[in-house]
Amino acid sequence: MLKVIAIFEYMRKILAMIGILKKKPVDKLLEALGKEKVNTSIVERKLYSYDATPIPIDRAVPSAVVFPENHDDVVKLVRICYQEGIPMFPRGAGSGLTGGAVPTKENGVVVSFERMNRFKVDENNTTAEVEPGVITAQFQEHVEKLGLFYPPDPSSFKYSTIGGNIAENAGGPRCLKYGVTREYVLGLTVVVKDGDVLKLGNPVIKDVAGYDLTKLFVGSEGTLGLITSSNLKLIPKPKARATALALFENLEHVGRAVTKIMTSGIFPSALEFMDRDAIKAVEDFKPVGLPRDVEALLLIEVDGSPQSVREDINQIKGLLEPMGIRVKTAESKKEEERLWMARKSLGPALGNLKSGKINEDIVFPRIYLSEAIPKLRQIAEKYHLLMVIFGHIGDGNLHVNLLYDKQNREEEEKAERAVDEVFELALSYHGSITGEHGVGLTKKKFLKWQFGDIGYELLKGIKLLFDPKNLFNPGKMVEV
Ligand SMILES: Cc1cc2nc3c(=O)[nH]c(=O)nc-3n(C[C@H](O)[C@H](O)[C@H](O)COP(=O)(O)OP(=O)(O)OC[C@H]3O[C@@H](n4cnc5c(N)ncnc54)[C@H](O)[C@@H]3O)c2cc1C
Repeated sequence: MLKVIAIFEYMRKILAMIGILKKKPVDKLLEALGKEKVNTSIVERKLYSYDATPIPIDRAVPSAVVFPENHDDVVKLVRICYQEGIPMFPRGAGSGLTGGAVPTKENGVVVSFERMNRFKVDENNTTAEVEPGVITAQFQEHVEKLGLFYPPDPSSFKYSTIGGNIAENAGGPRCLKYGVTREYVLGLTVVVKDGDVLKLGNPVIKDVAGYDLTKLFVGSEGTLGLITSSNLKLIPKPKARATALALFENLEHVGRAVTKIMTSGIFPSALEFMDRDAIKAVEDFKPVGLPRDVEALLLIEVDGSPQSVREDINQIKGLLEPMGIRVKTAESKKEEERLWMARKSLGPALGNLKSGKINEDIVFPRIYLSEAIPKLRQIAEKYHLLMVIFGHIGDGNLHVNLLYDKQNREEEEKAERAVDEVFELALSYHGSITGEHGVGLTKKKFLKWQFGDIGYELLKGIKLLFDPKNLFNPGKMVEV
């Protein structure tokens, strides 16, 4: 069968070449970029129609996967796609959790940036020029060897790309102290409609000229144009780090402890939360010796000079122990790594509990956490669902995981209804529907709830201004 299709396709191309049949739009891409960069095999097209989103979404098999190798390739690609009406679905590593990189139209092409993976560090200016396909961890390791630091640390940093991080405005544990990806993007080169090129921002710290279009592109999820290069800010690497573990018998004490730490004058580099089911999931999956008899734990990291980190940890002990909270300090690098491993293995550990998982990443203003966490548990109880909560509690960003059996449609529906209530709760406390995973396909409905009618109309207006034909990642984030 595959052979017959290949023969037909070959004949169609010959006829198209001699002008008897109309060329398919993708043929123009093949002509302009060559078959090394435009892959139309069914295997490749199917492989690139997925990302890491754990729930079922409407995906389409694209008509080709394009692998640009440099900025000029992207300009050619966008020019043709805009002329021919071909939807473009940009893609980094496909580790997104909301369907951002998933193609939704069969006449579309996936644009994979994996071959645009060069970067150049300017040590004197403490900036770097980075292509979108660079793997975050590789970039971080490189700059750290130079005594520099690029803080944004999504848990997917070992495989996610800088382009994907920028398009999602990714964050991680360290973003509590250092801020999310947006804080580090000084400038961008973007290819927009008709293949026009926008150079936004500059490798400078201060630049207040005009509307901040650079930051508009950060977190735009590929819906406004394609990023081909970025100027990133680097800072000095902290000299020392220390980690402590705080153990809670009572869930309601967690919020109070977080407020105490954050108002004490200490600025932790990370403040991570795991509830009892998260602890149990990790211990069942890959035991690291966390106590199973507590309601919750906080993983606290401080950084600075060797002396200041010791003082900070002692001060945190002094704050929490009088509240009846046990605090243990990691005594060696190995112990520290073991504790962080526990936090980082949560994703796969939850996969072991049930076949279905809805993972939301809502945000609450920190002061409401003591009230909000028990209310989240009440939602789970109401629907008789297992809910596991963990996340970046220092910045109020919680990962709320609703677990269900995929074969049990009734339980799946309950999980979907519970998700609505989880978002309602976050918004009722002036929080957000997403702290880092973005909107993509899966949270489109809730974006309207957060922005209201007028705000949503403005979002649509911005999208159409940049992309009047709706060809950049159509169907994602904003519906136009
Ligand atoms: C186990 C796991 C843990 C995770 N933990 C975190 C976390 O702690 N914090 C966090 O923020 N996220 C996390 N994520 C989500 C995900 O890794 C991030 O959103 C990441 O930034 C996506 O990068 P990517 O290269 O995989 O991009 P993709 O998933 O391929 O794409 C993401 C979005 O970027 C767009 N895009 C990609 N490249 C470009 C470009 N050059 N121009 C324009 N648009 C582009 C895509 O169209 C899509 O909308 C996690 C995911 C997994 C699987």
